Amino acid sequence: RASDITELKRLLGAAERAVVFTGAGISTESGIPDFRSPGGIWTQMKPIMFQDFCASVEARRETWRRRFASDPVMRAAEPNRGHRAVARLVREGKVSAVITQNIDGLHQASGIPDRQVIELHGNTTYATCLDCAARYEIAELRLAFERDGDVPECRACGGFVKPATISFGQSMPEAAMLRAEQAVRAADLCLVLGSSLVVYPAAGFPEMAKRQGAKLVIVNREETPLDPWADLVIHAGIGDVMGEAVGTN
Ligand code: NAD
Ligand code: ZN
Repeated sequence: RASDITELKRLLGAAERAVVFTGAGISTESGIPDFRSPGGIWTQMKPIMFQDFCASVEARRETWRRRFASDPVMRAAEPNRGHRAVARLVREGKVSAVITQNIDGLHQASGIPDRQVIELHGNTTYATCLDCAARYEIAELRLAFERDGDVPECRACGGFVKPATISFGQSMPEAAMLRAEQAVRAADLCLVLGSSLVVYPAAGFPEMAKRQGAKLVIVNREETPLDPWADLVIHAGIGDVMGEAVGTN
């Protein structure tokens, strides 16, 4: 609705230190499916728990099989109108940080500097050793997997190599959690884009923002548990809403 966009523009105009909090919904317009929408990833397969990844080579093999299967989609994905609008708000100094649950790297690809992107659930565009944190590129692991059936292990220490994402059951990245908390404490507006707001502790950040006095805006196609507390809720597509509000294509 036109009045919603007007109100979003007004709230953005009044903000000086906004944080943007994003979920899988901001990347669906880039061709990456989300988890909980109809047709989302969870309706097709169950997540692999971190404990299972560590306990069984079959779980590790399945993790890597899925990761390689998603590669064409991940590599073809480019930032969309929603990402571009957010990047502009960061460039203009309106938004101090983008806290994201996404693992696709598209905020960085849209031109937002690393220091202003906070990845709560890691990044799937590379892999790390769980024991020594050595970094591995996906393409190189893929070659050995497809050629020899090798489930990736660390050359340096023999530890398990895992996509650099946070699985259910895995502990949250401490530095990212701390940075997110600092950004939220200083924020006067929290703009949630494309998250069902049911995954904790991530969803605690918009909640924390509202509790400490920031305005809360939610743009999401479906309802979320925080809708009743928001200052503005827009149930529509992110690209169009943000593109119109910010004036980007
Ligand atoms: P989610 O799937 O639970 O929720 C996504 C929400 O976005 C849904 O409520 C849906 O209605 C809404 N949505 C989808 N497309 C939209 C659009 N174009 N405009 C407006 N709303 C739209 O995702 P979540 O809240 O991020 O939590 C799920 C977990 O999934 C996260 O932990 C994240 O790490 C992971 N994940 C990431 C990606 C990615 O990196 N792109 C993709 C899938 C899942
Ligand atoms: Zn190692």
